[in-house]
Amino acid sequence: MPPAPSSHLLPTFAKADIAFERGDGAWLTATNGDRYLDFGSGIAVNALGHGHPHLVKALVDQAQKVWHVSNLYQIPEGVRLAERLAEATGLDYAFFANSGAEANEGAIKTARKYHAVSGHPEKIRIITFEGAFHGRTLATLAAGGQQKYLEGFGPKAEGFDQVPFGDFEALKIAVTPETAAIMLEPTQMEGGVRPFSPATLRAIRALCDEHGLLLIFDEIQTGVGRSGKLFQHEWAGVKPDIMSVAKGIGGGFPLGLFLTTKEAGKGMTAGTHGTTFGGNPLAMAVGNAVLDVVLAPGFLDAVQNNALLLKQRLAELKDRHPRVIEEIRGEGLLIGLKSKVPNTDLAAAARAEKLLSVPAGDNTLRLLPPLTTTAEEINEAVKRLDAACAAIERTLDNKKDAAA
Ligand SMILES: *Cc1c(COP(=O)(O)O)cnc(C)c1O
Repeated sequence: MPPAPSSHLLPTFAKADIAFERGDGAWLTATNGDRYLDFGSGIAVNALGHGHPHLVKALVDQAQKVWHVSNLYQIPEGVRLAERLAEATGLDYAFFANSGAEANEGAIKTARKYHAVSGHPEKIRIITFEGAFHGRTLATLAAGGQQKYLEGFGPKAEGFDQVPFGDFEALKIAVTPETAAIMLEPTQMEGGVRPFSPATLRAIRALCDEHGLLLIFDEIQTGVGRSGKLFQHEWAGVKPDIMSVAKGIGGGFPLGLFLTTKEAGKGMTAGTHGTTFGGNPLAMAVGNAVLDVVLAPGFLDAVQNNALLLKQRLAELKDRHPRVIEEIRGEGLLIGLKSKVPNTDLAAAARAEKLLSVPAGDNTLRLLPPLTTTAEEINEAVKRLDAACAAIERTLDNKKDAAA
């Protein structure tokens, strides 16, 4: 039996009444023995599925050596992870933190500091896009700009301007002498899996260059192989000045980080930023282990092949269920299924078929399987979605009959 929901947890989450006690690849076993196919990956975190032997070994090996020493000392595994990330991205420096929001805080601070030390302390404003999600701290909430999350938490942090998603003219007009940076997710994930086109990303890069603005990509959810490339911006051939990474890079261990070019990071000298836990040996060991797998030859090719298969199967599913599914969007293994019924109903119907997914904005459902998922699991997931759609159609029919 799942444990009774505790009345001592601050009730900020609407949790499903399921607890899992074991995970293996794309599968999770609940405390009552039910097995679920996990196409949510703990919100794009379990990039290599559950219990990946290479990750387990890295964590256990490190746990037997040393867990935490603080950033007062050298952490060789972190030096190595930074070097590998720099080599893979063409960015020069990494700063390790513990979460996505913290990574974004550091990215925002870095952008402002860059202008301050360049003789432009007035350049503090960051332009973001409606529908964005950058985290739940006070600054990242202001960056995301979603009223429902800001409500009741006092004045919105100063220095964030927002323009409509995809409105390039509005973006150009929003640039002022106080603008420091433009910040975006190459695909808005919480916002409903809405990608920026490669052409738009290139135009935004050019706009930044024209005005001396820094370009910040939040690849917390799109990164670490989920798009079929290590980072989604690679598809557009556009390089950011600063990039935040979290979720998949820890494979389930809390790890967030930001990367910056040497130039953009020039203000971040000793003492300007810090963290107690960030970059500790456990997190660094796991981060390196994730990269071992994701950067191995052929791994991202396999992700791309699986993504193609999933996209094809979902296109067929949409044709079979036009009353339930409106649109399939996203690239790679970051897929959004825009629903015609409430997305939470669709998620619940899928869960009843023992398939896990993640609701998102714009009435979409995210499918975020582990990058290691197999063709067989993809076919199984679509079979379960098929059954979920059929169940929803039956309720729609019943309602119609009742109304007649
Ligand atoms: C999840 C997420 C965040 C916030 O990460 P936390 O670890 O929850 O703080 C920020 N940006 C994007 C794009 C995310 O997906």
